[in-house]
Amino acid sequence: MRTIFEQGPSGAAEGIFPACDVPAQGAAAWLGRDLARSEAPRIPNVSETTVARHYTRLSKLNYGVDDGIYPLGSCTMKYNPKLNEDVAALPGFADAHPGAEEVHVQGCLEFLYELTRLLEGIAGLPGVTLQPVAGAHGELTGMFLFRKHFELRGDTGRQRILLPDSAHGTNPASAAVAGFSVTQIPSNACGTVDLEALRAELDDTVAGIMLTVPNTLGIFETDILEITRAVHDAGGLCYFDGANLNSFLGRARPGDMGADAFHFNLHKTLSTPHGGGGPGAGAVAVSERLVDLLPVPRVVKRGDRYALDWDRPKSIGSVHSFYGNVLVALKAYAYILQLGDEGLRAVSDNAVLNANYLQERLKRTYALPYDRLCKHEFVLTSEGLADGVTTLDVAKRLIDYGVHPPTVYFPLIVHEALMIEPTETESKEELDRFAEILERIAAEAREHPDRLHEAPTRAPVRRLDQTAAARNPVFTFPFEENAASAP
Ligand SMILES: *Cc1c(COP(=O)(O)O)cnc(C)c1O
Repeated sequence: MRTIFEQGPSGAAEGIFPACDVPAQGAAAWLGRDLARSEAPRIPNVSETTVARHYTRLSKLNYGVDDGIYPLGSCTMKYNPKLNEDVAALPGFADAHPGAEEVHVQGCLEFLYELTRLLEGIAGLPGVTLQPVAGAHGELTGMFLFRKHFELRGDTGRQRILLPDSAHGTNPASAAVAGFSVTQIPSNACGTVDLEALRAELDDTVAGIMLTVPNTLGIFETDILEITRAVHDAGGLCYFDGANLNSFLGRARPGDMGADAFHFNLHKTLSTPHGGGGPGAGAVAVSERLVDLLPVPRVVKRGDRYALDWDRPKSIGSVHSFYGNVLVALKAYAYILQLGDEGLRAVSDNAVLNANYLQERLKRTYALPYDRLCKHEFVLTSEGLADGVTTLDVAKRLIDYGVHPPTVYFPLIVHEALMIEPTETESKEELDRFAEILERIAAEAREHPDRLHEAPTRAPVRRLDQTAAARNPVFTFPFEENAASAP
């Protein structure tokens, strides 16, 4: 597909924009010479029709949750009600300036205050900050809280964070960025934390543990109470990565399981789409001992007015400008109010039901290394499918069938992993369609493996060099090399 630059001669877009009526000399003097451009921008000389068709064509190449199942494990790519987007677009919220006087944004402060209380209730913990803007940012905030907690106690020898090998990849990164060293704890044959291995590491150098709940195999830590008790007994703190809360939303509370800090991914569980690099919100809930350390400002209620409280001497400070991504928080608020207690429970009911339905069907075709009841997701392997066929082949072939592939090659403890999260918003028909396609691909792997090796053949681009795409991204149109090909 041609870029817009290749669809018309490069020039100053004569005929599209009116002629410049500012004297060039004057503009340079007014702007300052270093800001004024020395040559005309190279805008393609194309008609409005061409532009409209070009971008419409581009938009149709996209695949999103509104097109079909998007089973990207751990990412909770579910359907998010459009109503919540409408709420977030209301001008009273969308146009509010973050520097406005408190008296002029009482409505914004009120919903931030109310959402904080609702999230505290869901987590079963006494304090929540809405400031972090991603799940990983919530983890980092949690690690800063742990650090500050031990600093205030003068217990500075605690420099280690324990991490199961089934943890999400952001966990060790967050612990390391906050200055901790990371000790890996192996999983047992059931895919949960090996308690003996954990106990062997516990001493007065341990600041705490980070648990992904459920873990990246989609398995709930059945010994979670023993784990958190053991860590607390050793003087450590417990961090729960709750990015996949759709697995137990409304059914169990991290506060009751011994969590000292727990992050929500509002942009997964609570109605903002994840992925695509859009804004997120990684609200963090904390236990009593960390409440005073939460980031400032805190939204407080004084009488019937809402205010911002900066006077928290033990706070770790701010982790983001203003109050985080307020409109993402607003969507979560609208979603929670819309669903109510029953609706929130139905989210986790259906997320777990859908995942187990698919797991039971697909394990007849693809091997399931940890075969037990799963929560919101499960991890298959392509190993043993057919000689020379890899998970990458399966994923690329899915694209040929018009379906987004699952997360692949993660978690690392499963070779050739296919990590599938159907989410709660897919119908049985859509789950069956997805399973049928994966079964057809498994048959092809044995009978026509070339179809998999060559895939995708029905996508706008073939198989790309993924490393080069990530390491050497090209963000601008290379005019010089393409001068010859311009029409
Ligand atoms: C998505 C996810 C994260 C990270 O969330 P971001 O908002 O992408 O930073 C962390 N842990 C788990 C388990 C996740 O699924």
